[in-house]
Amino acid sequence: MSVEQYSFSILSFKDCPVQKTHEQVIELLKAWRKDQPFAEKCSVCKTLLPLIPYTLCCGHFYYNNQFKTYPVQSFAVHTHKYAFKLSILKRLKTQAKLKMDQDFLVLPDPIFWQVVSTLVYEKIMKFVQGLPMTIRTQAIQSPSKVGLFYKQILETTLNYGVYSVGRVENPY
Ligand SMILES: [Zn+2]
Repeated sequence: MSVEQYSFSILSFKDCPVQKTHEQVIELLKAWRKDQPFAEKCSVCKTLLPLIPYTLCCGHFYYNNQFKTYPVQSFAVHTHKYAFKLSILKRLKTQAKLKMDQDFLVLPDPIFWQVVSTLVYEKIMKFVQGLPMTIRTQAIQSPSKVGLFYKQILETTLNYGVYSVGRVENPY
């Protein structure tokens, strides 16, 4: 194999321990915005939640409260032909004539989300599927806006427990 056949990617999608589809991410975002309790059982069907940091059950979002320390679990989602990358990296790669095919994003564990970040992630999920941003506008964003959306992801503040410590601590 010649060097030209290598491509540049920090990770590959299958190396990410948790992988989600666009639909799963949108479902997770919407449920998260309703409520984010720490629970052992689903409040609707009373089923014990699986031993994973967070899950959906009966359309509700839950953090599992069975962990002594919270195991952070970010996840990967495909972005298909959209390459979200820093402009500096883009420039350096062009100079080095490297090809990059990292067609996925790693989104942070929902423990760090804030309402505003969920709105940004939801927009991104629609963007990469070529869907309109809102039902009302019907406007589809051009793929050339990928840099703009990437900037929004980077600029979205995450919750490191400063504003709502109660949610980050495990009350169990
Ligand atoms: Zn349930």
